[in-house]
Parts: sequence; structure tokens; C-alpha cells
Amino acid sequence: MENLNTIRSGSSFEMTERFLRSRGIKNEKVLAAMAKVPRHHFVPESFRSHAYSDSPLPIGFEQTISQPFVVGLMTQALIQNQGQRFLEIGTGSGYQTAILAEVAKSVFSIERIFSFVPVAKARLEKLGYHNVSITVGDGAHGWVDYAPFDGIIVTAAVKAIPDAWFEQLVEGGTLVLPLEDSKGLQMLYTMTKHGQKIAKREMGSCRFVPFITT
Ligand code: SAH
Repeated sequence: MENLNTIRSGSSFEMTERFLRSRGIKNEKVLAAMAKVPRHHFVPESFRSHAYSDSPLPIGFEQTISQPFVVGLMTQALIQNQGQRFLEIGTGSGYQTAILAEVAKSVFSIERIFSFVPVAKARLEKLGYHNVSITVGDGAHGWVDYAPFDGIIVTAAVKAIPDAWFEQLVEGGTLVLPLEDSKGLQMLYTMTKHGQKIAKREMGSCRFVPFITT
């Protein structure tokens, strides 16, 4: 523990003030969660000195832990309607999962790459999060056993949105995801379910790893 503290630079509090609050993230619950969760626990040792910079970092298997500003932006969009139960697709390091665990009553998370799951589970346990359930699987199917969700957050770029995600949202529920067009450009969206209709809001361009479809 001592060693970790000496090699990292910055803190989650400084990171939140510099890269999130000053850049328009306003939700105090989100800011408090981002200022609290120790991001250096979620990055590989070789990148720990960059844990509190505002950038994505490699976590192995060609995947990345998302950029803090983007985590804040997506979480703020996800919880805007005061939901309690959220589904995350793409657990990865478990960092976004921890942020959700701070702001929600229950968090469910699905990860396609088997090796990430025990590591993320152990980290979250060690940090004292007991309101998180993680499973290995293809997030395209959602998690029907625990549906419906107040919101679903997807942390890999999809080219098409599986029906299961809208089906597993409550009325008025929110889907937050990066969507990639035919030219390979990605845009972050918030989509809200109103009966058979979906209200879409663009939140800016982004760069996520591709959603695994095989
Ligand atoms: N939220 C994570 C992001 C990791 S990158 C973090 O900040 O650490 C995206 C993650 O989505 C990767 O872990 C990848 O394995 C996972 N993923 C990609 N396709 C998936 C699928 N079909 N189902 C579930 N998870 C998937």
C-alpha cells in the first residue's frame, strides 16, 4: 500500500476538480464518487503513475480503462432520472463499476473476457462494495434475470443496438453508449425509452474499444 502511494502522482480529488468539475460535470453525486474511488487500484502497475491523468490506459487484452472525464459524463447522463438499479456492459477494470456502486443501490455488470472478472470482483470487494454483481457473458443479451434496469451503460463501441437493451429498460429508463457509424466515427449518446419511442441526445464524439460480437 505504502509503495502504491509513493509512485502515483495526483489524487482522485485533484483529478475530479481539474478534469471534471472545471469541464462541466455538475452532478454532485457523480463528482463525490469520482473524488472518492481510488483509480490507481484499477490500472496496471506499469501505468500507475498516470492513474490520475485524464486519459484512458491499457488494461490488457487490447482493452482500456475509460478516460475519467468520459466516465463522469456517462455516469451523469445515466443517473439523471434518479434510478437505483443499473446494468453495465463491459466491466473491464471495474472502475466504472465502482463509480456506479457509489451512486446507485445495485449495480449489475457483464464482461465478455473471462480473465477480467475475478480481478474486478476482488478489487471491488477489497474496496468494500457489496452492491455489485458481475458475470461473464455476452452483454448483447443484457441480463434478463435482473431486468428491468433504470439505466444501462455500455463501455465499448457498438455498431448496432441489440433489442435486449431497450427491452430490459424501465419506462423512462436511460441507455448511455458509444455508437459507431459506417465510417468508423463514434458518438456518445443518451437514449431514453418512452414506450415504443426512443429519445436520443448526442453528447459528443468519443473513442472506445470495439464491442466484441463474436
Ligand atoms: N468500463 C471499463 C471499460 C473497459 S473497455 C473500464 O473502465 O475499465 C470495454 C470492455 O467491454 C472490455 O473489458 C471488453 O472486454 C468489454 N466488452 C466488449 N465486448 C463485450 C461484450 N459483447 N459483452 C460484454 N463485455 C464486452
